[in-house]
Amino acid sequence: MNLGCCEANKIKNEALRLGFSACGITSADNVNEHIQYFREWIAAGRHAGMTYLENYFEKRYHPHLLVEGVRSIVSVALNYYPERLLDEEQYQFAYYAYGKDYHEVMRRKLNDLFSFIHNELHPVRGAVFCDMAPILERYWAWRAGLGWIGKNTQLIMPKAGSYFFLGELFLDIELEYDFPFQGDNCESCVRCLNACPSKALEQPYKLNARKCLSYLTIENRGVIPEGTVLGNRIYGCDECQKVCPWNRFAVPCNIQEFQPVPAFLEMRKEDWRNLTEEQFRILFKGSAVKRAKYEGLKTNIELADI
Ligand code: SF4
Ligand code: SF4
Repeated sequence: MNLGCCEANKIKNEALRLGFSACGITSADNVNEHIQYFREWIAAGRHAGMTYLENYFEKRYHPHLLVEGVRSIVSVALNYYPERLLDEEQYQFAYYAYGKDYHEVMRRKLNDLFSFIHNELHPVRGAVFCDMAPILERYWAWRAGLGWIGKNTQLIMPKAGSYFFLGELFLDIELEYDFPFQGDNCESCVRCLNACPSKALEQPYKLNARKCLSYLTIENRGVIPEGTVLGNRIYGCDECQKVCPWNRFAVPCNIQEFQPVPAFLEMRKEDWRNLTEEQFRILFKGSAVKRAKYEGLKTNIELADI
């Protein structure tokens, strides 16, 4: 079934009504770009301990192997920039981790959009995803016209920035498609490369996760390499986004689940150093920070500046 621009516009309007900041649609063709780069990146071990990235290579580049019959991919972006920020003198968390686990919020909104299409426009089959399957999320967002992949490897949207979660609907219908985003608005800027505290951005667009503080303080299950300087970052790192000039357009999100609780904002360094397991459980109930576990966060705190 081939639906036209009217249906595509209705999907985008509904996405905005549901609280997404942007929505684009592209055809679910095989991906032919970046394959060699990705293979070399994996072969060089720059994915660090994220061994899951070694798996499902074919599904990652051939969407129909992930979802049989998929014809279109709807890409959406959800703002997570918090209304209130931690005091810069205190320990820092990546902004995305300030509130509740985004997976549930995103999945609910994606399911709502899927139901709208199925019930109001045309019966569809497919699936929804958010950071939970072998999908080139930033690539599909670029291809659906949302923005470009910056030198810091983030998806950047013009006049909006990069503090967004990405999600996708894989659908078995054809729709009118958007053009891939034209151009690279990074131009001659190299602020993110200069600002990266661990030089994990070894070259423009090339991240070495083994050095990245975001990886080392969240996903890493081994020992943080000797000599790594965390500074005051104890969960994630936003430096390459904070310096990005496009993030001057960031506006606080209005999603209640992504707002930090007062107790989190009030924590001082001393409070973090004395954090008990019980406090951790209460403070991070329903939060993605639980992934690092109490012991993981305590290790990061011990390595951070006093
Ligand atoms: S998240 Fe931090 S450590 Fe990782 S690339 Fe960005 S600035 Fe560098
Ligand atoms: S800081 Fe500059 S180079 Fe880096 S992603 Fe932003 S615009 Fe691109």
